[in-house]
Amino acid sequence: MDIVPLQPADYQSIVFFTGAGMSAESGIPTYRGKGGIWTKYHWEQVACEEAFRRDPEKVLTFHRERRLEVAACRPNSGHRIIAALEQQHPRVTVVTQNIDGLHGLAGSGRVIELHGSLWRLRCPRDGQRLEIKPGNDYPDRCECGAWLRPDIVWFGDNLDQDVINLAMESLAECDLFVSVGTSGTVWPAAGLPQIARRNGAYSLEINPEASENSRLYDQAYRAPATQVLPRLFPSVTGPVRA
Ligand code: NAD
Repeated sequence: MDIVPLQPADYQSIVFFTGAGMSAESGIPTYRGKGGIWTKYHWEQVACEEAFRRDPEKVLTFHRERRLEVAACRPNSGHRIIAALEQQHPRVTVVTQNIDGLHGLAGSGRVIELHGSLWRLRCPRDGQRLEIKPGNDYPDRCECGAWLRPDIVWFGDNLDQDVINLAMESLAECDLFVSVGTSGTVWPAAGLPQIARRNGAYSLEINPEASENSRLYDQAYRAPATQVLPRLFPSVTGPVRA
């Protein structure tokens, strides 16, 4: 596959818009694809507010299992290239749908987590938030006695308005928009490529398969993230032999 390398210095502000495919090569399955979570579980039973009210222990057990899976995975070379680029360029932002924390673990500093994080808990009663770390124990209940829920966006939840605003700010200034590993089926996140396009950003899609939004991109690379990103940004990684 021919990949035209990009010169990061040609752009003022770069946004990486990432989805589950970004972490697939770290060993974290996508949700919808083969072997994905929703082929084994019903989200109605483990990933919505109603399920949490009905059976909090079942929902918390499901998320404890997800944390154990994610804790066993490391950032891949794609995450690391994005993090390294931030060291070289004044404006690199990651807007991610992922809840796994792997961008941060790779060293990215400007990460907007649209759907929250598995590594943060929230008390639905008093709004307290609690950061947790892989390997450390954490409580199931808040000091006020309420069950602590994962601070992630479940089915039927609204996105945090402050987080949306941050994402919109980054899109408003972005002139290079690189989408990695998202199917474009989860809204409102799926609307971001259209906004980037309207704002005049040059946009690329990295995904082995066509997505709902493929027609919106100026360029598409149909290959896994770790094969495309090093060739796209050789100034970060050094020349990559084909
Ligand atoms: P999705 O599962 O709907 O789609 C994943 C996309 O990634 C697909 O289009 C697939 O073709 C592509 N893909 C698979 N392997 C790839 C690779 N190696 N390189 C590049 N692309 C690859 O994921 P989504 O669009 O992110 O939406 C799913 C929702 O589920 C999101 O809200 C996300 O928060 C959540 N989710 C998060 C994680 C995580 O945190 N790692 C994992 C699964 C799902």
